[in-house]
Amino acid sequence: MNYQLVVGLEVHAELSTGSKVFCGCPTRFGGEPNSQTCPVCLGLPGVLPVLNKKVVEYAIRAALAMNCEISRHSRFDRKNYYYPDLPKNYQISQNYLPFAYNGHLNISIKGAVKRIDIDNIHLEEDAGKNLHGEDTGLAEDSLVDFNRAGVPLIEIVTRPDMHSLEEVEKFMTNLRDVLLYLGICDCRMEEGSLRFEANISMRPEGESRLGNRVEMKNLNSFKMVLKALEYEMGRQENLLREGKTVQPETMLWDEAKGMTSAMRGKEEAPDYRYFPEPDLVPLVIDPEWLKEIKESLPELPQAREMRLMKEYGIPEYDSAVLTANRPLADFYEETVRLFPNGKMVSNWVMVELLGRLKERNLKIEDSPLRPSHLAEMLTLIKDGLISGKIAKDVFTEMFTSGKGARIVVEEKGWAQISDESQMKEIVEEVIRENPKSVEDFQGGKKKAITFLVGQVMKETRGKANPQLVNKLLREKLQIKSKM
Ligand code: ZN
Ligand code: MN
Repeated sequence: MNYQLVVGLEVHAELSTGSKVFCGCPTRFGGEPNSQTCPVCLGLPGVLPVLNKKVVEYAIRAALAMNCEISRHSRFDRKNYYYPDLPKNYQISQNYLPFAYNGHLNISIKGAVKRIDIDNIHLEEDAGKNLHGEDTGLAEDSLVDFNRAGVPLIEIVTRPDMHSLEEVEKFMTNLRDVLLYLGICDCRMEEGSLRFEANISMRPEGESRLGNRVEMKNLNSFKMVLKALEYEMGRQENLLREGKTVQPETMLWDEAKGMTSAMRGKEEAPDYRYFPEPDLVPLVIDPEWLKEIKESLPELPQAREMRLMKEYGIPEYDSAVLTANRPLADFYEETVRLFPNGKMVSNWVMVELLGRLKERNLKIEDSPLRPSHLAEMLTLIKDGLISGKIAKDVFTEMFTSGKGARIVVEEKGWAQISDESQMKEIVEEVIRENPKSVEDFQGGKKKAITFLVGQVMKETRGKANPQLVNKLLREKLQIKSKM
């Protein structure tokens, strides 16, 4: 019997508004512990939360991009639990009436589009952070930093629609791309601004009911999500094959051991005693405002990917790479505007530019080479002023110096030799020095000419125009054979 994997994700994304969700404290990451706090986010008695309008705007942007319906009326609820990083002993969240629901995000799997449904997106506040031992600067202690308490979050809850690790990975990647395109979350997983929880179950192939599910917490990178899922898949499948049942429980992924371990069982699951937050009025979203936000949305990665394929005639693979982030897609489109050959530009951007950036650990925004430089260089190739081979050196030089293509070619004396009389001399010399290849060519081995062209290129250190070399060689060799 084969088993099918069933995965749903809960994604917490910190919104990159300048201030927190219910007070004016800054949200900057990495500040001196407890330096970005006030009575509201410290949960001191007598304070009242005030909702940050920007947070709602950012959240709506995310929800619209994920094809959600937006509730005209939604409400906040208290999720009650005790933990040292939660100063009020409750988190303000949305349980009964989330602001967005019934959305979806498409992923492409082996060329086919698959839709992953989103049950709801709700607004909530982040908790503080407990620091232990070394992290506190005082080896023995555990301390708490409330800088993160009250940082705005959206929680995106998918339906259990993913059935392979590839689907999970594609979904996470698409989701991250959308958030980055919208500019509402920096998605720095190492800083905790994008966090994943997964619920996973297995069922016999063809079965429509869901099996008992395990919830996995603490997944801090894409790689960790995938490793934990892979491990848990195997564990659950083994249990089912042995006729045992999977216990519904919450588990933690132990990165060091490479396995999951039980955190708590279902009977110990906390009862959050949700109830409507009495300190906040219901959230009412004005349809006019919603319309404004809708109109201000940028073109999203999937739409852009389709458009680039159609508009510039590039393959799906190229388009996916180029639209992976907004600045890269902007770089590409700007270059094509100056040099309208979509595929040629995409080759140079994907191979040479992305390669150099990776080597030097630079982001596209910091590339010393600009679209105008690349377009200028491609024009020089097209006009036969430099060869494709020399172009790579020109590229390297532009990338390191930030200079334009024409200046580099001039300074380095790299212009192609297109002067016929000068070329004729070199061609004659090569013919004289390679009688064997000449004989082969004239004896019918037409491929021998490639070798002779290569010799001329070597002689000129790649500066010869290959078309011209070919033409001159053929002329000379035809004449010779007639004699
Ligand atoms: Zn505050
Ligand atoms: Mn949550």
